[in-house]
Amino acid sequence: MISCNFSNCNIFCLKIVTFIKRLNKKVPLSKCYLHLRKISLSSGHMSVLEHVRASSITRTLNIIGDRWTLIILRDAFLGVTRFRDWQAKNNMARSILINRLNKLVEVGCFKKVLYQERPARHEYQLTEQGKRLYPIAILIWKWEETWYTRDADIPAKLIHKPCGHTLQPVMKCDVCDGEITLKNISYKDGPGAGQDCQVAPRHQRRSRISVKNKDEAMMMERAADIIGDRWSNLALSAAYLGIRRFDDIQSELKIATNILSNRLSHLVDSGLLQKVLYSDKPARYEYRLTDKGRDLFPVMLAMMTWGDDWLCEGRGVPFLIIHTTCGAESHPQVKCAQCSKELISSDVQFSFD
Ligand SMILES: [Zn+2]
Ligand SMILES: [Zn+2]
Repeated sequence: MISCNFSNCNIFCLKIVTFIKRLNKKVPLSKCYLHLRKISLSSGHMSVLEHVRASSITRTLNIIGDRWTLIILRDAFLGVTRFRDWQAKNNMARSILINRLNKLVEVGCFKKVLYQERPARHEYQLTEQGKRLYPIAILIWKWEETWYTRDADIPAKLIHKPCGHTLQPVMKCDVCDGEITLKNISYKDGPGAGQDCQVAPRHQRRSRISVKNKDEAMMMERAADIIGDRWSNLALSAAYLGIRRFDDIQSELKIATNILSNRLSHLVDSGLLQKVLYSDKPARYEYRLTDKGRDLFPVMLAMMTWGDDWLCEGRGVPFLIIHTTCGAESHPQVKCAQCSKELISSDVQFSFD
């Protein structure tokens, strides 16, 4: 008999019940709902969003969830390796650039290589771990290309060299090769569930970036504006988990009302959430995902997968991902929609036409 094995999280509990129902297996539903009730009445358990905070998304964001880091990585994927080129291209303060490059070396995304002896000059080359961030960058590129006016700096299209088609990156299941979306995914606790994630040093925590004119912002800046801020990110994660109402989000996130209001307003202004009245007296609102918000989900999933692959340090992944279409435990991969080959940077050619 299959029983609910989601000890802490009511949303996941509901999802697994739906998943098992689909498989037509014998399910002790009463146990799950009883469990759900017991959990929702207790206060000492991890909340849904505490799970998210402990997930690999947070670990990944502690490394790349910063505007300058995303911009440095974007340029690295476009071929930049030298300090002066990053500095010239982005008008970046020297101290910020040094700090971010050192951090990327420290976490294993870049290696520092001597290219000139007198005077000593180094360049920063992407390691395998760094190159594996490429699919995240491509998914962000696709999201920005879909939802914003294109910057002149940004390639008009990407060609996937192995098949010759215009690249359409999609998140696919490694077992059945079907697309993974918000609607056909479920989670269960993995061996590393609940373990504390690494917390970013204080100076690396970013407050929200203010991009005044989103149409003029550079590639990755719009996404960095959302994913580079931990509270916006958690509020969006809540929406992905189906938690929509202000009071529910607040009780999960345990943050001040004004901070939550600010981040939710920002997500509404950015077009990722829609504010909908669900009760008149008193006036109560819920925050529903828009198509644009839903479209950012593959980016979050790719960040989670990268964190699972590179940042779990032998403890095991916090969550196992179930692709409900095939029922298998899945390791999502970003692939070309045409030929289904997994995306690597050397296979992609930029076209500015
Ligand atoms: Zn599958
Ligand atoms: Zn292809």
